[in-house]
Amino acid sequence: MNIGLFGGTFDPVHRGHMALARAALEQYKLHRIHFVPANVPPHKQRQPHSLFVHRFAMLALATADKKALVPSLLEAPEEGVVPIKRDRVERPNYTIDTIRRLKQSLKAADKLFLLLGMDAFADIAKWHQAEALFRECEFVVASRPGYSLADVANALPESLRPRPEVTRPFQKLAATGDLVLKGATIHLLADLHQPASATAIRQVAAAGKPLRRFVDASVAEYIRKMGLYR
Ligand code: ATP
Repeated sequence: MNIGLFGGTFDPVHRGHMALARAALEQYKLHRIHFVPANVPPHKQRQPHSLFVHRFAMLALATADKKALVPSLLEAPEEGVVPIKRDRVERPNYTIDTIRRLKQSLKAADKLFLLLGMDAFADIAKWHQAEALFRECEFVVASRPGYSLADVANALPESLRPRPEVTRPFQKLAATGDLVLKGATIHLLADLHQPASATAIRQVAAAGKPLRRFVDASVAEYIRKMGLYR
């Protein structure tokens, strides 16, 4: 089976995330996608605004009526979902560890795809054990307004970066297709034009404006009820 792993802060989960998941599901015939909210995202400048438990609850709501989309506890806090002391320093959730943990529950014949947007992929070379990530799974990199898929090859860790003649076909703005290299397979998902971003949504929520355009109705209601991002 083809399995997707979609990590993020999901603070909150929004239409951009859902569009990426839907497109990947269809295009790569995925049987399911694990949405993995990070307790401590290693790649973010600032830590999440909402507790893990809220971000997980919003994911559970957003995926509730979609059989193939599964909210995951793979990166849940070790001490339990509600921390005793909020400012306790916890270990960052490295994707390489999460992949290996998920793989323990998969069959040898299953194929794992790591899903992410181009903004996140732009920093992939800085991720913990970046080269090992490419050995463990195939990548699906989605377009995102403001970022160009033409930059995919240049973003690779240096040891995996191919010669320019290999990547030339991908060096156009609307690059699409599969980049198959020695040690890395990257599928480009170019048709995503969803402008939603969690940062912008938190600002809209803080201003007390309606959120239904950006997030699922159940998620908008949850944000309102719990007073998140105020
Ligand atoms: P923030 O604004 O807080 O940085 P975000 O909107 O980027 O958050 P994340 O939870 O950090 O959301 O994103 C998780 C993953 O989803 C990342 O790989 C990111 O690239 C991807 N992603 C988020 N929004 C979009 C979007 N609108 N289109 C395509 N990919 C997206």
